Parts: sequence; structure tokens; C-alpha cells
Amino acid sequence: MPQTLHHGDLPQGLFAGAASVAVDSETMGLRVGRDPLCLVQLRAVEGDAHLVQLSRPAYDAPNLKALLTDPAVLKIFHFGRFDIAMFQYALGVVTAPVYCTKIASRLARTYTDRHGLKDVTRELLGVEMSKAQQSSDWGAAQLSPEQLDYAACDVLNLHALKSRLDEMLVREGRTALAQACFDFLPHRAALDVAGWEDVDIFAHG
Ligand code: MN
Repeated sequence: MPQTLHHGDLPQGLFAGAASVAVDSETMGLRVGRDPLCLVQLRAVEGDAHLVQLSRPAYDAPNLKALLTDPAVLKIFHFGRFDIAMFQYALGVVTAPVYCTKIASRLARTYTDRHGLKDVTRELLGVEMSKAQQSSDWGAAQLSPEQLDYAACDVLNLHALKSRLDEMLVREGRTALAQACFDFLPHRAALDVAGWEDVDIFAHG
């Protein structure tokens, strides 16, 4: 997978003119507030994956932050709730507008409970993904070629998945509901950061 590694921030204007960018991130763990954000991976609809190794704890990355908050660029995630919460906590930005292939999958693929990126990619695109580097040390100063390749692969198929899932959402009459969920997602992430992570505030009782 062709990839370019950047230190600290994206080069200015790298995604100029892009209507959408696939985004993923790697962290030291799954707990927002405890586990630092280490790497952000981005890819336009075609071309190389761009990996930004962030400099902690300053996170001085103005070009990356501008892209994440650019109202003209749709950010496509798989389980964006986590990445968006991490970005809010570490970078201090509210990522928007967003699309989440996991939410789309949950709304469109009601015949299964397998909504992980690996499962959805296998079924909809016939592509097998490796998750071997998922639990590696993303805080290392020097990331291994295997880590960089794994990180790049996580943003490789998101545009194609979105296309397939959008077709399914239309077929099932759930496009508007999905859009409403995507619009709410940054707020769901804000609730996570604010301490309502394990609470469904819509639940009765
Ligand atoms: Mn990933």
C-alpha cells in the first residue's frame, strides 16, 4: 500500500479540492483521556495514504485540524465515534462533517451482527484485511514498516465501502436516518469526552 509518512502535521494544501477524505487513527489504547493519540491516517478517493505521526503532547498540527473541521470536506470513518472523541480530546477540534461506515453497516446490514471493518470489507468488497498490528506500540518514535502498512490499509477501502453502503441504505429507505446519525456523531463523541461514555441518555429510567 503506497503511503507517505509526515511528522507533526500534514503539508499545507495536500487535500485541496477533495470532497471527501477517509480517516482513521491509532492510539496507545481505547480510553479517551488516558491513552494518547499517536497517528492519524488519511486518504482521498484515490492515491497514497498519508500518515501523520503527531508530536505529543503539544499536538501542534494546524493543517490537520483545518482539514478535520473543514465544512467542505466529508471525513469518512469506520467507528468514527472513537476517533472523533480522540480528536476532540487531543486536538481540541470538533470533526465535521462525518460519515461512519459502521453506522451505515448497522442500519443497512440488519441480517448480521458482524460490523467490524474486517467483516464488512470482506463481505462487501471481497477483500481480506490483516489486523495483526492492531495492538502494537503506536507511541514508538520509529514505527515499523509493518505498522505503517497496517495503518495505511485501514483507510484504503473506506470510500469503496461508503459507495456500497450508500446503495444499500437507499435500497432499505434509511438514507435520511443514516445522515441524521452522522450529523449527531460529533455530539455523541462530545458526550463520551464529557463523561457519558457508558450512558445512553435516551434510555428510559
Ligand atoms: Mn486503525
